[in-house]
Amino acid sequence: MDFFQTTITKEAISMAKKTLDSTFISAGKKAIELEKELEKKIGVKNSVSLNSGTSSLHLGLHLMNLKKGDEVILPAQTFLASGLSILMTGAKPVFCDIDYFTGNICTHSLEDRINSKTKAIMPIHYGGLPVDLNEVNKIAKSYNLKVIEDAAHALGSTYRGRPIGSISDFTAFSFQAIKQVTAGDGGALCCKRISDYKRARKLRWFGIDREASKVSILGERVFEVEELGFKYHMNDLAASIALGNLSSYSKRLKRVRSIAKKYNNELNNVPGVRLLKTKNDRENSYWLFTILVEKRDDFIKMMLSKEIPVSVVHQAIDRFEIFGGKVRKNINQRKFDKNQICIPIHSGLTNNDVRRVIGAVKEGW
Ligand SMILES: *Cc1c(COP(=O)(O)O)cnc(C)c1O
Repeated sequence: MDFFQTTITKEAISMAKKTLDSTFISAGKKAIELEKELEKKIGVKNSVSLNSGTSSLHLGLHLMNLKKGDEVILPAQTFLASGLSILMTGAKPVFCDIDYFTGNICTHSLEDRINSKTKAIMPIHYGGLPVDLNEVNKIAKSYNLKVIEDAAHALGSTYRGRPIGSISDFTAFSFQAIKQVTAGDGGALCCKRISDYKRARKLRWFGIDREASKVSILGERVFEVEELGFKYHMNDLAASIALGNLSSYSKRLKRVRSIAKKYNNELNNVPGVRLLKTKNDRENSYWLFTILVEKRDDFIKMMLSKEIPVSVVHQAIDRFEIFGGKVRKNINQRKFDKNQICIPIHSGLTNNDVRRVIGAVKEGW
């Protein structure tokens, strides 16, 4: 049993081969096709395909025109890249607390951290459970802040019937190797406003407006560059892999959700275990299945002795030197740090695997 699974479908391999055979591995036709498919299959809006989740976060923040001294509030229960992308803009990451029973941003703590320097909020859909987006966006509106969702875990999640990627100012997805749909490496930034969408498309390719540029008699593009851009575009080989993997994602997601349902039903009353909250108004994509356990080291030893892999996938990132090297007094986060552990969840698990996981946890430690 593997903890994570890198899913490369047959279709992904055949689409990648076709693209390789064509030798058009960089042009962007497949990358544009992927954007269309994300809009069709997932329901995201104005998606801009990019070369990683990290560049998606950075480009979204860059589009906010942040300056040195500006602050962006985020929870520490995430991957390092969330905080680094804020530093890349010159702004300062400010860590607020989480809700102990979801791992998601605590909106009270968020509101506490807002001051005159605050420019944006970066909520993370931890494990795939959507954050309270109405609440976060209401706070953002009342303080005139932008919202960028780190949705690296949440492809296919929905909030009150709306797909993640269609709600806030910006949403960043990741198609990294162990995410639900992989491109090898890749990402997408979804923009609420058309002006941001257009600027993102330009800045992902050095600041060159490919669509608007004319072609010379040599067939070469004639263009002007007015604004600093990046090399953040997704290449067609990566896009082909993602396209092939995306086409069967809804089937895999169904399977993952049925495993989560079993875990939620069976592990509900196990002594020493607390399940994270589920919410009726949102659908989780369950990139992770995190539980809160007493005596975690003993729990880990017991699971490993039964050859069941478990993992603390994300340790709170506020401890890193790069963010000031101090562990913040966020009470729920510190409790979560101590008790959280993830059990395997992905579409490659067999029914027998799922039974083994449940059996082991129920037996106790
Ligand atoms: C995977 C991940 C990222 C970074 O995505 P990359 O595609 O690896 O750059 C950012 N945030 C979170 C929460 C992630 O899990």
